[in-house]
Amino acid sequence: MHVFKFGGASVKDATGVRNLELILRKTGFDKHLIVVSAMGKTTNALETVISNYFLNKTQLQSSLQDVKKYHNAILLNLFDDVSHPVFKRTSALFDELNSFFDRNKSPDYNFVYDQVIGYGELVSTVIVSEYLNYVGIKNNWLDVRDCIKTDNFYRRANVDWEATQAAIHTQCNTSILNITQGFLGSDANNFTTTLGREGSDYTAAIFAYCLNAQAVSIWKDVPGVLNADPRYFDNAQLLHKISYREAIELAFYGASVIHPKTLQPLQQKEIPLYVKSFNHPDEPGTSVSKGMGIEPLIPCYIVKKNQVLIALSSLDFSYIVEDNISEIFSLLHVYKMKVNVIQNSAISFSVCVENNYNNLPELLQHLKAKFKVECHEEVSLYTIRHYDQEAIAQLELGKVILLKQLTQETMQMVAK
Ligand code: ADP
Ligand code: ASP
Ligand code: MG
Repeated sequence: MHVFKFGGASVKDATGVRNLELILRKTGFDKHLIVVSAMGKTTNALETVISNYFLNKTQLQSSLQDVKKYHNAILLNLFDDVSHPVFKRTSALFDELNSFFDRNKSPDYNFVYDQVIGYGELVSTVIVSEYLNYVGIKNNWLDVRDCIKTDNFYRRANVDWEATQAAIHTQCNTSILNITQGFLGSDANNFTTTLGREGSDYTAAIFAYCLNAQAVSIWKDVPGVLNADPRYFDNAQLLHKISYREAIELAFYGASVIHPKTLQPLQQKEIPLYVKSFNHPDEPGTSVSKGMGIEPLIPCYIVKKNQVLIALSSLDFSYIVEDNISEIFSLLHVYKMKVNVIQNSAISFSVCVENNYNNLPELLQHLKAKFKVECHEEVSLYTIRHYDQEAIAQLELGKVILLKQLTQETMQMVAK
């Protein structure tokens, strides 16, 4: 069994869906399971729909129409005959979504989010599956919610591995081609859950783990894992081979080409991961597997934008030690700040965080009661794995450096 994952960018339009077909014809497709994300930026568009449902009801239907129109244009391009059943199947999904809005009584944003957001993946997989059948690639459409079982921590659900393993074994016929949705799962009451934004890579890894797959290939808009995000760095170079350990580190520091949870299940069963270009499917891309660190061994650059650097010092020149540090961390936890770097000295403590839930003012207010607080918003966190002095010097050029930290393999700095 080989697991493929096609992300939103690979199926953003009809050309993308046709290209997926071409890739399957090249690689072969028996005994494959294909995980597909929502098309293009559909997940963002559905986030707007959800926000309108709660905060701006008058815009709800028009934002939903935008999502429908986008998919309809793709359908009309792919299928000559408007009486093809795919039109009914997709419009039935949108009807189901509308009736959820009519019926729903839950005020829980996270719950509603998960019930709505998954329609992006449901619609995209229906289109891809029907299209492949239409062009003669017979396949089985699987509802991933019958396969991946989770707790009910909506928007960031945790996999129930035992239940998932059992469900996948019952649901999945491994001798044929299966098409299913990334990102989604379901809880014990069969409500839809999601694995966190960009979670479809992780879906592919969950299936690979449970099916003891031979390999996973994720098809991206880049040639593979590069030594830097090409959106922010010129001349990014392809990494041909990296170890699980190295890939886990890169993903942890923020190399967003692989979802950080993807590697661990693959590493446990030593299932290789190939990151390949959907535009150049014949190129080898990057292979992530057991073994040596990184080839070629060159500095790797990672940027995380929109960070907040909070520098705390004691009001009375007393030391910042265990008890204050534990208090600071419990506040960071309460206000759901994701901590990316910490640094401390005798009387000061700095922490670089992500303010994902807009709790910064409350946190600062709380901290100010105890410490002298300096806060820098909208700073960036730069990481260089396998740094050398030249790489650091180049990166520092023209930046105001607020914090810098070096370990043997990794340099991190917070800068403006
Ligand atoms: P998907 O279509 O599967 O959702 P993503 O958009 O999540 O794909 O991932 C691909 C993007 O990741 C690339 O377009 C690139 O901008 C970004 N990226 C960040 N870091 C790296 C890196 N080190 N190597 C390659 N791409 C990277
Ligand atoms: N469609 C989801 C997202 O955009 C999941 C994914 O693409 O991985 O976050
Ligand atoms: Mg993505």
